[in-house]
Amino acid sequence: MILIQKIPKKVNKNFLDILKDIFIPPLCAVCGKIDSELLCRQCISKIKKIEDAVCSCCGRPLSGNKANDKRCSFCRKEDFNFYRHRSFALYSGEIKKVIRKYKYNRIYALKEIISLFLRHTYIKNYEYEKIDYLETVPGRHMDVLCRSLSGLIKIPFTGNIIKIKKIVKQQGLDFIQRRNNIKGAFKVKNCLQYYGKNILVVDDVWTTGSTMMEIADILKKAGADKIYLLTLARGIQ
Ligand SMILES: [Zn+2]
Ligand SMILES: [Zn+2]
Repeated sequence: MILIQKIPKKVNKNFLDILKDIFIPPLCAVCGKIDSELLCRQCISKIKKIEDAVCSCCGRPLSGNKANDKRCSFCRKEDFNFYRHRSFALYSGEIKKVIRKYKYNRIYALKEIISLFLRHTYIKNYEYEKIDYLETVPGRHMDVLCRSLSGLIKIPFTGNIIKIKKIVKQQGLDFIQRRNNIKGAFKVKNCLQYYGKNILVVDDVWTTGSTMMEIADILKKAGADKIYLLTLARGIQ
């Protein structure tokens, strides 16, 4: 008893961690293999990162002879309130599992690696842009992630957007139905903070982009200047 009391707290914790590792070895959150990291190298290598030519606006991968076009067919017809969207990976396979483990199984320790993925895409596309604030779609899992990312890319996150309407599930709805469903769901708390500022909005998944577009709309209404979007994974739409 006296001995335990004399051990400094830090040493005591490390000792417990060592014991924990012997009896409960650390596992990869996705494949379940014993690994010192929460996401093993093999699982990381299977993620389909978006590295090649993309639409200059929405970030959709452009393949074959379309690779020389600047905008995809969808963005050539539309004008958006956001400036650009970029995604780390295609929403399939391993990254889909990572997002599910993080979001639904609430393995929030995955925020470290997910933040590094987002930072990678941020550096590649936005590092030299003047961005004043980081924002997200309101929700606990994105809040935790944004705080972690904010520390890495040194852009403040204050959580200035709130949800003001219950959203009916978006699954099974097309783009127009999703846009209507999400309309009026969010509000900027303090408009003065974002007046004339450039905002980077982060989310986990881009399906049709309807949620991010709604967030971009309310930020514009609040007087924000340029809106940059960043997601961890995107569908091909
Ligand atoms: Zn693994
Ligand atoms: Zn596009």
